[in-house]
Amino acid sequence: MKCDPPLYRAAPPSLAVKPRLIRHLFLPPLVIALVIGLGYLGFWVSEHYGIRSLSENGQRQLELHARAVESEISKYTYLPSLLELESSVSTLLADPTPEHRQTVNDYLEGLNRRSRSRAIYVMDTTGRVMATSNWRDVDSYLGEDLSFRAYFQNAVRGQPGRFYGIGSTNGEPGYYLAHGLEEHGKIIGVAVVKVRLEAMEERWQRARLEAFVSDENGIIILSSDPARRLKSVVPLSDDTKEKLARSLQYYWFPLNELQPLAREKLAEGEEKLTFPANSEVDSAEEDISYLSQTRPLSDTPWNFTLLTPLQDLRREAINQGILVAVAFALLAFLLIAWNERRKVIATRLAAREALEEANNQLERRITDRTTDLRASNERLKGQIRERRQAEETLRRAQDELVQAGKLAAIGQMSTSIAHELNQPLAALRTLSGNTVRFLERGQLDVASTNLKTINELIDRMGRITASLRSFARRGDDKGQACLGKAVDAALQLLGGRVDSSHLQVHREFTDVQVQIDQTRLEQILVNLIGNALDAMQAQPLPELWLEGETLDGKYRLRVRDNGHGIDAEARKHLFEPFFTTKPGEQGLGLGLTLSASLAAATGGHLGVEHPASGGTTFVLGLPLVSPTPDEPI
Ligand code: ADP
Repeated sequence: MKCDPPLYRAAPPSLAVKPRLIRHLFLPPLVIALVIGLGYLGFWVSEHYGIRSLSENGQRQLELHARAVESEISKYTYLPSLLELESSVSTLLADPTPEHRQTVNDYLEGLNRRSRSRAIYVMDTTGRVMATSNWRDVDSYLGEDLSFRAYFQNAVRGQPGRFYGIGSTNGEPGYYLAHGLEEHGKIIGVAVVKVRLEAMEERWQRARLEAFVSDENGIIILSSDPARRLKSVVPLSDDTKEKLARSLQYYWFPLNELQPLAREKLAEGEEKLTFPANSEVDSAEEDISYLSQTRPLSDTPWNFTLLTPLQDLRREAINQGILVAVAFALLAFLLIAWNERRKVIATRLAAREALEEANNQLERRITDRTTDLRASNERLKGQIRERRQAEETLRRAQDELVQAGKLAAIGQMSTSIAHELNQPLAALRTLSGNTVRFLERGQLDVASTNLKTINELIDRMGRITASLRSFARRGDDKGQACLGKAVDAALQLLGGRVDSSHLQVHREFTDVQVQIDQTRLEQILVNLIGNALDAMQAQPLPELWLEGETLDGKYRLRVRDNGHGIDAEARKHLFEPFFTTKPGEQGLGLGLTLSASLAAATGGHLGVEHPASGGTTFVLGLPLVSPTPDEPI
């Protein structure tokens, strides 16, 4: 099968290799870059929207907790002004006797207990503490000069004093609310309430809230995380630091700045802050990012800041990014696999189409060849028919020739037949005449003997005519013959000539059954023996050898004579029809031709040999009916 060249034509190597090489070189890095890029995009989008959602939620939280802080602070704002109504306070300020002081001390102690504030005290206009709720304590404010405190300075001028600071006596932080006590439009002293706001810090811690409150100086005064307390959320200049240190507002605490690693402003009052990891708290030692939302607290110069950790969000964003990257990688893998599969299918389809095309071509060729073969078959059949007809014609011609040959042989033999028949006829005439005379004389015995002889003669004549009839009869190609019988019949047919020539016959063959019609075998033998007799006419001691042997499923009968033999020229034409060396009417030249034809018609053959000792040997080969052991007759 030849393939269709265009279907299998490969592309030139330079063109076939390059696109594949480019694809193999650039596709993997491209896919990896896309995976990373899309993963980062997924992370960024997730973080962005996560922060937005956190911010909305944080705003609500911020509002809620800022209100809580405001209410906590405002709870005490009225308290110092209450003392204006207390006559013992104004009495003390007007007349600071120990009795008056003790009265106010007791009053303040009771008030402080009920209001759950840290301390309540009253100062004169010079800033000296005249009476205090903690008068019993060792570190009592009593008699202390607190004129340096900003809240005093504000209150003594008639302004509300709001102040967060660390107590100069005991270093305890607190929120100071001061109020200038007026009498008759004149400030006679200052009432101060100190409250502690740590409860708020504890509440935040319990609620796991990260929040702080920074004061007007940007210093964190309240924080859920103690580490952030008294840190500055704004950069502090050296002058400011010195001023604050001198005011003792924050006692002697160092005012370090709360410095985030990174700060990103998201909106007004909203920042993203990243702090370095606190290894004690966070064992993973990751930097901590917060969403910082700040809101001013009303009635104070303070700010409330809510910190929302972004770790979970960040982790979730990383997961989302990884998810997007993995999804894209999977998609890319599926696409590549699908593309490869598509190519394989396309190749298979192309191969199948090529195969189908080749198959179709083959089928077309087979159809063409079959048509040719059918035509030549028809031609052959025609030829076979013609040959058969020719064979039939030939066979009929052969039959006719055989018949003609037989008739010719009969004609040839007519003289001797006449002689053969005339002799008994003459004897019959003589014998019958004698018999009549012997009967007239009454010699019945002699007459009877003569009649017997007459019978024998008639039998012999009958046998001669029977042989001639069977010889003249048409035979057929099939049939079986008994070799011994055929030889006997032939010798009998030629009896006159055999006898007259004093022929000596040597029978050295087996009485086998051969595949030939009996009559035809007799005809062949008559021809061969007749020719031998002709050749031995001049031979004073004529001898005929009939020798047989089995060879290759055939029986070979050699008919050898000691006649004059055949000369070289005659040997060439021996089996040609009408070739004869016999003079006048004696030879027709059909005997050998017909004999060879009859032998060949049954699958046998007839050949000739020329023995060096002289004479001629004809070899007749005939197929055996069934092989029998050689048995001399
Ligand atoms: P015909 O006997 O009529 O001549 P045949 O075909 O029988 O025709 O024989 C052809 C010739 O072959 C004979 O004329 C003879 O010369 C030669 N021939 C046949 N048999 C013998 C034989 N046994 N010895 C010598 N010559 C033979």
